[in-house]
Amino acid sequence: MWKTLLLVALLFGCSTTAYSPGSLHVKFSYTSTQGYSDHDRAKLSTALKLLSWTVNSSQFQENFLAAHFTETGGLSNRQILDKFAAGLSKINPNSYELRFIKFNENSDIIGFVLFPLPSNKIFQNEKYFTRSAIAVAENVIHEAMHLIGFDHVNTKRMYTSVPYLAGDIFIQTLLELDPKDFGASLDSAAVSWIEMKARQQ
Ligand SMILES: [Zn+2]
Repeated sequence: MWKTLLLVALLFGCSTTAYSPGSLHVKFSYTSTQGYSDHDRAKLSTALKLLSWTVNSSQFQENFLAAHFTETGGLSNRQILDKFAAGLSKINPNSYELRFIKFNENSDIIGFVLFPLPSNKIFQNEKYFTRSAIAVAENVIHEAMHLIGFDHVNTKRMYTSVPYLAGDIFIQTLLELDPKDFGASLDSAAVSWIEMKARQQ
């Protein structure tokens, strides 16, 4: 009897999701874009493809599981990754089908989401959208982390929160993967931006 109980406990104790390299299937896409030109939409598409490509790599999982997050709501890195991998939609698992809305403000706000959740809306500031597709993608993963429930205080501490660190991990992984291997073309702004980031690290 005890043996059975112990076995049951062990089975449940070990029931965390095991990731194998490249086993995430997260897909970012948009369902609407308000205030975006055709050129903007092309950049956004590249950004979302780049993001999907990067987060599904084994490097991203490795980097994510090794990160030191704060403001996690008591969740382990694996639980945060599970939550991220589950996506936003119950109908289409693993997917982030987003609605984008452009705003134009001369402030340091790159983007934001509105509470309460659930929501799939991301607001992006025109001022920063003019940067490269990589910078746009970094903001999308930041905002996506807000949409699945992670937040941050607005002090120095925020840089280790899940939204900010997820953005850093995306960039770090992209540098390890080599953006040149990305199938779709990256514009020259993206390449110079990634070079600038590489020098900072
Ligand atoms: Zn934020």
